[in-house]
Amino acid sequence: MTLTKKILLGMFLGIIVGIFLNLVTPQAYPTIETYILSPVGKIFISLIKLLVVPIVIVSIILGTAGISDPKKLGRIGTKTIVFFLTTTAIALTLAIGLATLFQPGVGNFQLEGAQFEGKEAPPIVDTLLNIVPTNPFEAMTEGNMLQVIFFSILVGFAISQLQGRVKLVVDFLDQANDILMFLVGVIMKLAPYGAFALIAVAIGGQGIDAILAMAKYFGIVLLALFAHLVITYGSAVAMFGKTNPITFIKNFSPALAVAFSTSSSSATLPVSMDVAQKKLNIPKSISGFVQPLGATINMDGTAIMQGVATIFIAQVYAVDLSMGDLLTVVLTATLASIGTAGVPGVGLIMLSMVLTSIGLPVEAIGLILGVDRLLDMTRTAVNITGDATCALMIAKGEERHAESYSEAIAES
Ligand code: ASP
Repeated sequence: MTLTKKILLGMFLGIIVGIFLNLVTPQAYPTIETYILSPVGKIFISLIKLLVVPIVIVSIILGTAGISDPKKLGRIGTKTIVFFLTTTAIALTLAIGLATLFQPGVGNFQLEGAQFEGKEAPPIVDTLLNIVPTNPFEAMTEGNMLQVIFFSILVGFAISQLQGRVKLVVDFLDQANDILMFLVGVIMKLAPYGAFALIAVAIGGQGIDAILAMAKYFGIVLLALFAHLVITYGSAVAMFGKTNPITFIKNFSPALAVAFSTSSSSATLPVSMDVAQKKLNIPKSISGFVQPLGATINMDGTAIMQGVATIFIAQVYAVDLSMGDLLTVVLTATLASIGTAGVPGVGLIMLSMVLTSIGLPVEAIGLILGVDRLLDMTRTAVNITGDATCALMIAKGEERHAESYSEAIAES
């Protein structure tokens, strides 16, 4: 059996066991969760997470160094940011449109139950100002990805300018990259068991009642995620990536399965880069630059949840949102999704920033808390698909650029 099939089987069995624990033996759930499922899941997540910081450093340095022409670096950087921002804005428009159309928040909701300690979301200006680290080693030990990325781009740029003089460092990093990617392969052998345990915990610990009560909200977030995946990414992959979207998703599925089970873009990064380079044939220099950046700042799935949740909460509190409010939601949710770290559940904390921006009560997050774990799994899968779509598109764009350049040279 291929690894992908094994992971899918693990996920399927996880769902079955989760439902069984939830409905048939809820009293046994805490013991099985504490002593069997959670330990297996945690070991798997820690094993892949341990590779994240070294992989980001090595691949971004090599990625940036590989794009030796500063013009090319500028072109790829600009395209990447434009793609990230445009797709996030489209995602939010879809989310707001569907939530306005289907009105998930109209009906009876018990507002007394809504209790959520509104944590202050970090101001986005601080996040942006903090990109420049004063101590790169501190950034690495703290896992501050934006700072690590910034430092690695600087080193990569220096290498590209120094060319042959730092060949030893380049060889060292190349070999380090091979070692890390080899380890990804080894750890992925455990993915079916990790996925099984993580999904059984997520489903077993969920009150089915909570999901039923929130079925409409739940369904609309899923619908918006699906629509974004099929329409936005599907057309980008077909038109600009010159690839059949079904083949693309099939090849990318091992990474999707890991994103789904870990709910963390950042933890999935080693796998999503491995798959993008080996199965989608995206050059290392482009995948190594675009995907780590995307896993940190590009979160369309998270933006979708935030968009639907905001409209849902406004409907529950019977607040009419003006066009200006909706634009504020698009803007703040774009910033909030940029500021969301690629780890489980942070999207929900950042939602408080969006709610506050249009004067909605932050405690209302308590209403959607119960179903967020399952939605987190799905939106994380969408988050990383956006990054891979962008990497594919840029890879194909660069191929075309190189072709037209050599044609121009041949003509002259
Ligand atoms: N879990 C998401 C991710 O890692 C972030 C979030 O929406 O909470 O991509």
